Amino acid sequence: MARRGGDRWCRDGCRMTSIGEAWRLARQRIDRLDARRLLEHVAGCSHADLLAYPEKLLSALQTTRLDELVRRRAGGEPLAYLVGSAGFYGREFKITADVLIPRPETELLVELALERLQHMPEPVVADLGTGSGVLAVSLKCHSPQARVVAVDLSPAALAVARRNARLHDAAVRFIEGDWYGPLVGERFDLIVANPPYVAAADPHLENGGLPFEPRMALTDGVRGGDGLDCIRVIVGGAMRHLLPGGWLLIEHGYDQAVAVRHLLRRAGLGGAASWPDLSGIERVSGASLVTGGD
Ligand code: GLN
Repeated sequence: MARRGGDRWCRDGCRMTSIGEAWRLARQRIDRLDARRLLEHVAGCSHADLLAYPEKLLSALQTTRLDELVRRRAGGEPLAYLVGSAGFYGREFKITADVLIPRPETELLVELALERLQHMPEPVVADLGTGSGVLAVSLKCHSPQARVVAVDLSPAALAVARRNARLHDAAVRFIEGDWYGPLVGERFDLIVANPPYVAAADPHLENGGLPFEPRMALTDGVRGGDGLDCIRVIVGGAMRHLLPGGWLLIEHGYDQAVAVRHLLRRAGLGGAASWPDLSGIERVSGASLVTGGD
């Protein structure tokens, strides 16, 4: 490598950028933390490395790659898709644009599920619309005594979910299908779902990173839905698919708790309740197949 003035040049004349310089340039275009994550991703190093070796040079390929990712991030593409992973309930999951990016509020669903599973010796669990598999895999990892089956309509999503199960050594059975479609005759101690619940007309679908996420994971809008279409199907099948004492837990929209509790009661389930997420919004509702009495 030859040096011309303060700049460094590779043999065929392209300018080489140091990590420190690349970081500075990226920070001018996107959020600081995002710039750091993209640089770590492209350079394959840790935050400590970035601080310790700012003079280290990026290859021409790494520079081009970083530039492209910064441009996409500046255009609103979510970071998880750019780096190909996201954290959920203490684990890192592979994420592609075929699946919804896991949200922190969905961790509430895991906590509520685990509270119930810990009292069950060998529970059978279904995760409907598993997407990246975060629910099924997290439940299997924290509750190894459970037999977990995960269903999704999208073969591409199932491929991501299978990768995540392998990554975390979670023996989950994955099946392609529509909600209870492939589970005829099967009953569960616990059914969890984070279905598409954003109403078709919700302007929020056009905001932030949502336009980059799979529509079928976000909204029932393909059928002109009010956001409750999939929840109706899931609640509607619960009586046929819960074991006595079994629980159904569903994540839903910020304003759907009352409607979901109503659906749960109308379906004949007992103890319908909702739980608030960390922002204080009722985000998960559930009920169980009550037994005994008459
Ligand atoms: N919570 C997500 C959002 O509003 C939607 C997730 C879903 O539809 N399951 O951004």
